[in-house]
Amino acid sequence: MALNVIVLGPPGAGNGTQAERFARLRRIPKISTGDILREAAHEGTEFGLRAKAIMDRGELVGDEVIVGIVRERLERPDALGGFVLDGFPRTVAQAVALDAIMDPRGPLIVIEIAVGEAELVRRLGSRLICADCGHNAGSFDKAGPGIADKVQTEPSGCARCGGPLVLRADDSGAVVLERLKVYHKQTEPLVEYYRSRPTFCSIDGAQPPDRVAADLAAAIEVASSEAGAYRGPSR
Ligand code: AMP
Repeated sequence: MALNVIVLGPPGAGNGTQAERFARLRRIPKISTGDILREAAHEGTEFGLRAKAIMDRGELVGDEVIVGIVRERLERPDALGGFVLDGFPRTVAQAVALDAIMDPRGPLIVIEIAVGEAELVRRLGSRLICADCGHNAGSFDKAGPGIADKVQTEPSGCARCGGPLVLRADDSGAVVLERLKVYHKQTEPLVEYYRSRPTFCSIDGAQPPDRVAADLAAAIEVASSEAGAYRGPSR
């Protein structure tokens, strides 16, 4: 059975990193709407520049646009055998649209990565991305070496294209607080939207990354055995 996974959580919970690890392990695509938007912004298309302005304010791109992007991406052959979605859905309207898209394809496995607010703020502002291609290069520990040290220990820069590593524009002060506010208001209600499903599980994202990865894989294992008998939200 195809593993159709959503990794849900506030900005800074490690969703992107964990989604990528799991997707690589299971050889299914990780689909990140943030990455898709950053790539469009980097390419400088009219849509990309409009999206960048919204991202730089910490707000959300419109539901209709983002649902269209995800619908098209999920139809590509590499996603038919399963996928890990990161950063989508982010509103109840997006979740409803995704249920409709998935209706003929089988149940979604939904994993929430839960992390407290203070830890999120500490982590955000220490994340590095590639200035050239937007690839997420992970984070450095603010209590440990600084950015300069991190860049020095990785002289080749971005693992994907070799470009320079920089802080994400939307990870700075006021924008971080706005993104957390938007998360609580618009995205957190999704936990209630999914919680009653047997394919939902919440894991502790405050643990070291390897433990989170192990918990995520175990939770997906349990949820996928439940998914076999679950007929989906609308049946
Ligand atoms: P992320 O990398 O997931 O933190 O996303 C970065 C930014 O892209 C967000 O702050 C939003 O502005 C935008 N974005 C990403 N995914 C979505 C989505 N599903 N709906 C609306 N906006 C999104």
